[in-house]
Amino acid sequence: MAKRTIQKCSFCGRPADMSEVMIPSATETGTYICAECADQIHELLANYRHETSAGIGKSRKAGEKDTNLESIPTPKEIKEFLDRYVIGQDSAKRYLSVAVYNHYKRLGQPQDDDVDIEKSNIIMVGPTGTGKTLLAKTIARLLDVPFTIVDATVLTQAGYVGEDIESLLTRLLQVADYDVKRAERGIVFIDEIDKIARKGDNPSITRDVSGEGVQQGLLKLLEGSIVNVPPQGGRKHPEQHMIPVDTKNILFICGGAFDGIEKKIAHRLNTHTVGYSTNNQKKRIDRENFLEYVAPQDLKSFGLIPEIIGRLPIITHLDPLDRDALRKVLTEPKNAITRQYEKLFKMDGVKLTFEPEALDKIVDVAVEYKLGARGLRGIVEEIMMDSMFEIPKSKTKKFNVTRDYVIEKLAKARLDTINDQ
Ligand code: ADP
Repeated sequence: MAKRTIQKCSFCGRPADMSEVMIPSATETGTYICAECADQIHELLANYRHETSAGIGKSRKAGEKDTNLESIPTPKEIKEFLDRYVIGQDSAKRYLSVAVYNHYKRLGQPQDDDVDIEKSNIIMVGPTGTGKTLLAKTIARLLDVPFTIVDATVLTQAGYVGEDIESLLTRLLQVADYDVKRAERGIVFIDEIDKIARKGDNPSITRDVSGEGVQQGLLKLLEGSIVNVPPQGGRKHPEQHMIPVDTKNILFICGGAFDGIEKKIAHRLNTHTVGYSTNNQKKRIDRENFLEYVAPQDLKSFGLIPEIIGRLPIITHLDPLDRDALRKVLTEPKNAITRQYEKLFKMDGVKLTFEPEALDKIVDVAVEYKLGARGLRGIVEEIMMDSMFEIPKSKTKKFNVTRDYVIEKLAKARLDTINDQ
């Protein structure tokens, strides 16, 4: 009679009848692993992977870089790329291009000499819907460093019950696939930075957790320090292990509308938004666009703390989009709204065209209802809705949107419900 071998786990010696299942080795007969050991190994491995991806236990050589200096796009090339997607905003584009270029150079700088190129975080001030986020997103297309857009308002919503400031970096870690070293060279766009401005000039009246407190927290990130980042963000996962991230080399680009800052700029320039100036120097000031003159002290009067302003040494502005710019937004960018609709129709075998007068009318409506660039999509959506419903699989092969068609479709549309947010 053949001797019956009793299955035992080759790791812990547990007999088969005490384990949920025994997994045999693929190569060696008589070698098994029990379910309990397999579970333990799975857990060990998960921890190991988490820690190594967090950089823990990895050797960190000073100056280790993933940036090839040869392949850095020049500021001109960066701007040309931005030009393909974003209309106007020359000043902001130039500042951003130089800042991003320098960011790459800083990452590639030799560590062996005395001069340390410091980072220059940027703040973009401009009315809502003029392309701040679009600029940031477009830059992201071009870069090979991790890039993320976060919203400062999540920090303010309820002060202490809002997100922790460190969670701003969670997204960056995620886009860097939890490779901490890569994340530490990344770029973070903080949108709506104006929403964490101190309310009122006197901080002592109320304890303003949603403003100054958040700014103080943010300062830690901007000035470069090691912060513990929750890998899954927020406070929903209290058990998660924090990942230490050094923010020294992370470039921060901030954006905000800073509604009403024009008055502060005008005040500083000792003139008024409306009215006549008394000397030649003041006459040269463009009253249409005070934002051009935005300076650190205006951000301070708006409610940013001086320490934060000091960490955002590059200030640039975005211009409001006039009629001409809105018209261009409709047709010129690489993924302009009209081009998107043309593509949609083309997929149904239909050649879509827009009469120039129809486009003018769309811009008129956007201006009249103060819908800005964001509203353009909503307006075009309203206009195209019926044809998008009717045309697929019909006999139509060409469709020309005329001014009359625009007027007809908008006549029954509720323009006041078009979302300009
Ligand atoms: P904000 O300045 O508030 O961040 P966005 O960048 O989000 O504004 O702009 C909203 C939308 O309006 C964009 O997705 C884009 O379709 C359009 N848009 C705004 N400004 C421009 C611009 N300068 N060039 C092209 N499109 C623009």
